[in-house]
Amino acid sequence: MFMTLANLTQRPIQRMVVENVLKAKVPLCVIVTSRVSCGKYHSHTNNLPNNSSVGNKPSRNFDSNHQASLNEILIDERNMARRMVLETTSTGPVEQKYDYLLVLDFEATCDNKEKLNPQEIIEFPVLKFNVRSQKVEAVFHQYVSPQYHPQLTPFCTELTGIVQDMVTDQPTLPEVLRNFDKWMITEGLIGSETTSTFVTCGDWDLKTMLPKQCALLDIAPKPYFQRWINIKKSYADVTGTFPKGMMDMMVHFGLKHKGRQHSGIDDCRNISSIVAAILNKGYVFRENGRL
Ligand code: AMP
Ligand code: MG
Repeated sequence: MFMTLANLTQRPIQRMVVENVLKAKVPLCVIVTSRVSCGKYHSHTNNLPNNSSVGNKPSRNFDSNHQASLNEILIDERNMARRMVLETTSTGPVEQKYDYLLVLDFEATCDNKEKLNPQEIIEFPVLKFNVRSQKVEAVFHQYVSPQYHPQLTPFCTELTGIVQDMVTDQPTLPEVLRNFDKWMITEGLIGSETTSTFVTCGDWDLKTMLPKQCALLDIAPKPYFQRWINIKKSYADVTGTFPKGMMDMMVHFGLKHKGRQHSGIDDCRNISSIVAAILNKGYVFRENGRL
């Protein structure tokens, strides 16, 4: 079966054909004849992170004397077609892997003069974002009392908007983690059929901050913290560009920033608007970060 992908994605009925092809329901042999689409693919893949789920190899023209096997070409071109479908379809019901995405964004003690050691979590917000309705159904939000540097620096307050009174006398991290676990159970996120995973902006929250502080306190974090979706990588899958930060992604999607940057709860809400924008591109979220 020979097709020109550049033409196939123009009309809805043709998109359906491409989508079925992508699901490998029919034998596929693709010839890429469009210079534009090849160029687009190159520029996207060159910007992707190494562990991106989209192929990193440049597309090859069938007519050239390439050495690669047919299988390799099929994978490359299928990835390109998948990208093209993502970029050309607006929205539509796409089978998603998770019922809920748990948008998490820690704030921690910090200083501008030197790196605080150890850094400690001072704000622990998580939004339970329903993937189907795209609504936040529940919120876990606690400020956390730091033990090693109980006094916040003026820089930290300036950056995060968290003043001393908001953390003094608040529970410490072990207690907040117990509360969070109870919330996970109450919300039916563990011990039920519901599927969920965390979404963070970058890997710092669950790869660095939480494991480091738990090691310091000699407590074992729950296994559900071991895997997550780094939304920067998902964004790169969709757009072909790896973003510097949250604001980059919001600007790209024309989203209005709400609240204060570096407030954990406001960051969560803004990240969830990016989640919605990416869902509306027809992207299927998958975990892309792990311990
Ligand atoms: P964010 O999720 O980007 O709001 O940042 C999480 C944490 O990283 C903050 O609570 C700070 O502890 C630290 N952080 C972020 N930006 C800075 C900065 N410009 N200087 C020092 N620490 C920062
Ligand atoms: Mg933040």
